[in-house]
Amino acid sequence: MAGVRPLIAGNWKMFGKRADLGEIAATLESVGKAADAVDVLFCPPATLVAAAAANCGGKPIAVGAQDCHANTEGAHTGDISAAMLADLGARYVIVGHSERRRDHLETDEAVAAKARAALAAGLTPIVCVGETLAEREAGRAGEVVASQLAGSVPNEAGGDLVIAYEPVWAIGTGLTPTIAEIGEIHGEIRKRLVARFGDAGAKMRILYGGSVKPANAGEIFRVEDVCGALVGGASLKAADFAAIIRAHPAAGV
Ligand code: PEP
Repeated sequence: MAGVRPLIAGNWKMFGKRADLGEIAATLESVGKAADAVDVLFCPPATLVAAAAANCGGKPIAVGAQDCHANTEGAHTGDISAAMLADLGARYVIVGHSERRRDHLETDEAVAAKARAALAAGLTPIVCVGETLAEREAGRAGEVVASQLAGSVPNEAGGDLVIAYEPVWAIGTGLTPTIAEIGEIHGEIRKRLVARFGDAGAKMRILYGGSVKPANAGEIFRVEDVCGALVGGASLKAADFAAIIRAHPAAGV
């Protein structure tokens, strides 16, 4: 999308140990000049955020986390706050990924609280929305995404907040919506962001996520209102992730 800097984010999910951090440097080496035109982000497991951020210092690459707690601190064993992630050098945090909505029963309200906490800590939240296969087959994809958007994006989101449209049935399956279907949902999300946030909504980045690969990335990136991608499996290997980054038209390669 013209005038908006693309963001290509890798979500490592619960994969990766310290020995795998070399994939970040290898990606950067392989993308070369493309990193000047595209924001590249790695979201490794929380255990690697500090080391990844230390490795990325001074490089055109950012580090984020995959979740945060809604509170700054407190008696929440095992949880990590947005302020703690910021303290490690994270700049982004994914909130409301469908795997967390499923595994941890996170509601839109809980996701909005996490996004609010991220903004307060100076992190950019990446708020995930997306319909299940049953919802798409029932013709309810637009309605479900609109409802998640309304409930998961906090009113404080006038500044830097990213939306990731990730159809649940496309995550890790090799399936993707058609280019027309991606365009339709992204257009609908844009309309709603503009209606709610005005100019800021016109500039918010909307990423597509769900089985993005080197082979389909270029076509997806050319869809109106697709401002980059949230990439799961293909972000774990430098060769694939770098090929996806280079496939963005802004990368000019
Ligand atoms: C994701 O985990 O956000 C994701 C999009 O996964 P994949 O690219 O593997 O479908």
